[in-house]
Amino acid sequence: MRKLLFAAAAALFASQALAQAPTPPRLLVVFSIDQFSANLFDEYRPQFTAGLARLASGTVFRNGYQAHAMTETCPGHSTLLTGDHPARTGIITNIWVDQSVARADKSVYCAEDETQPGTSSTNYKVSPKHLLVPTMGELMKRRWPASRNVAVSGKDRAAVMMSGHVADQRWYWNGKAFTTDLANAPVPQVVPRFQAALAAALAQPRPALESPPYCQGKARPVTMEGSGKAVGNGQFGRAAGDLTAFRASPEIDGSTLALAAGLVDEMKLGRGPAPDLLSISLSATDYVGHAYGTEGEEMCLQLLELDREVGDFLALLDSRGIDYAVALAADHGGKDVPERERLAGVGDAVRVDPALSPGTMGKKLVAKLGLQGPGLLGDSPFGDIEVDRRLSAADQKRLLDAAVAAYRAHPEVEAVFTAQQLAAIPVATTPPETWSVIQRSRASYYPGRSGDFLVVLKKDVTPIANTSGSVATHGSAWDYDRRVPILFWRAGMPSATIEHSADTVDIMPTLARLIGLPLQPGSVDGHCLGDVPGVQCTGR
Ligand SMILES: [Zn+2]
Repeated sequence: MRKLLFAAAAALFASQALAQAPTPPRLLVVFSIDQFSANLFDEYRPQFTAGLARLASGTVFRNGYQAHAMTETCPGHSTLLTGDHPARTGIITNIWVDQSVARADKSVYCAEDETQPGTSSTNYKVSPKHLLVPTMGELMKRRWPASRNVAVSGKDRAAVMMSGHVADQRWYWNGKAFTTDLANAPVPQVVPRFQAALAAALAQPRPALESPPYCQGKARPVTMEGSGKAVGNGQFGRAAGDLTAFRASPEIDGSTLALAAGLVDEMKLGRGPAPDLLSISLSATDYVGHAYGTEGEEMCLQLLELDREVGDFLALLDSRGIDYAVALAADHGGKDVPERERLAGVGDAVRVDPALSPGTMGKKLVAKLGLQGPGLLGDSPFGDIEVDRRLSAADQKRLLDAAVAAYRAHPEVEAVFTAQQLAAIPVATTPPETWSVIQRSRASYYPGRSGDFLVVLKKDVTPIANTSGSVATHGSAWDYDRRVPILFWRAGMPSATIEHSADTVDIMPTLARLIGLPLQPGSVDGHCLGDVPGVQCTGR
C-alpha cells in the first residue's frame, strides 16, 4: 500500500514536472535590424519604450558578434539562421568577382543566379543558390513538413539568406514594390491589397516627423568632404513618389512589418500543426546609416520609430493569442561619418584614399609592370581582390606580388592576406572578441569564391571617398562593425543582460533547442546559449 502511494506520488511529481517544463513556442519571430550596431543599441536602450524595450527586457547579449571580417549584409544575414560563419555558408561578401562567368560584368551578386541569360550583378535573377548550407526554416520543414518558413525584408538578399532554399513565402522591396522570387508559391490575398495600399501611400507626399527632445539634441548639420552636402538634421519629409527617400526612412520598416502582419493573419502562422518561422529583416536603419550617418537626428528618429513599429507588430501577435518567441540581432554594425566623428573626438577618422580602389591600383601596377588590361578586379578599396586571369601565369604572379606589396605599404592599410595564407589556418573556435585580424578574415574566406588576396583597412578609415551617394558605411573587420546586440524574448522570460560574448552563429542552435529541433552534433559552427531561460543545451 505504502509502495503504491509512493508510486502514485512519484507519478504526480513527474506529471507536475512535465507541466512546468516550458512547452515550445509555436512561432519563432527572428528580427534582423540591418546595421544595428551594439553601439547604437547601448546608446538608445534607455530611450526605447515600446517593442525594442520589450525585447530588451528578455535575455540581452549586449556583446554579440558577427565574428568575420567582411561585415556586409549578405554574409551577416547568412550567419543568423544557418548557425555558420561565411567560411561555411559560402556567402563571403555582397558581391564577388568570378572571372569564369559568361558575362562582361565579372561580378556576381550573393543572392542571384548568374547562369540566367541576360543578367548582370546589378540586374539579376534573385536566387538562394550561392548559400551552401541549409537554414533553420529548411531544417524545420524537414523535421515537420507542415512547418512554414516565411521571410519579409526591405532587401532581397536579407530575405533569401534568412529563409534559404525552401521557403513558403518570401517578399522584399525591389526598389519599386514588394515582390517575390518564389514563382511557384501561391500569392496570399493580402499581398495585392497591401501592394495597392502602399502604392497609394507612396503617391502622396509624407510630412516631416516631429522630433522628440532627445533627437532635437542631435540635430546639427555637418558638411561632407567632397560633395559639400550636409547631413544631421533631417526629419524624413518625403515628396510624392520619391521611392529613394521612402527606402531610407522609417516608412519602409513600417511597410515591411505591415506585410509580415498580413502574412501572419492570412497564413495563421503560429496556429498550425507544426512550429513556424517568420524572419523579418528591417532595412531602414542601414539605409539611414548610409545616407546620413549614425549620430544625427535622422538615425535618432529612425530608431525611435522602429521601436514603436516593432511594438505595434508584437501587440498584433499578442492580440491573436499566438505563443511566440523572438530573437533579434543584426547583420553587422556600423559607424558614423568621419566628419562628425572628428568633431566628437575620433581624431584619426578619415575617408579612404581613392588610390586604394582596385581599378586605380590595378591601372598603376599594370603600367609599372608593362602589362595590359585592368590588372586587378574588385568591388571596393578593401576586401577581396583578384588578379586578371587573362594575364600569363608568370605575369599574374608578378602582379599579385606587386599588388600585395603596394597595399601593405599604404598607411591606411592594416593588413593584406593572400588566399594561401587564409587557407592555411582553421576557422577559430575561441570567443569572437579575442580573434586576431587574420582569424576574422579567415571566417570570411571560402576557397574558389574568395579573391587572390584580402585587404583590411585600418580602424576608423571609412571606405567611401566620394560622398555624393552614401556618406557612411560598414564592412570592416573592426568591432564597430562586428559587435551587434543579440536578444531573446518570450512572454514571462526573466530579464537578464549578459556581458560575456555570443556569436550570431549561436542564435540558430539556441532556437533549435528551444523548439526541440534536433541538430546533428558538430553540424553547425555555433553553440547553444545556455543563458537563455527555457533553453536546455545539454541532453537530447
Ligand atoms: Zn546590412
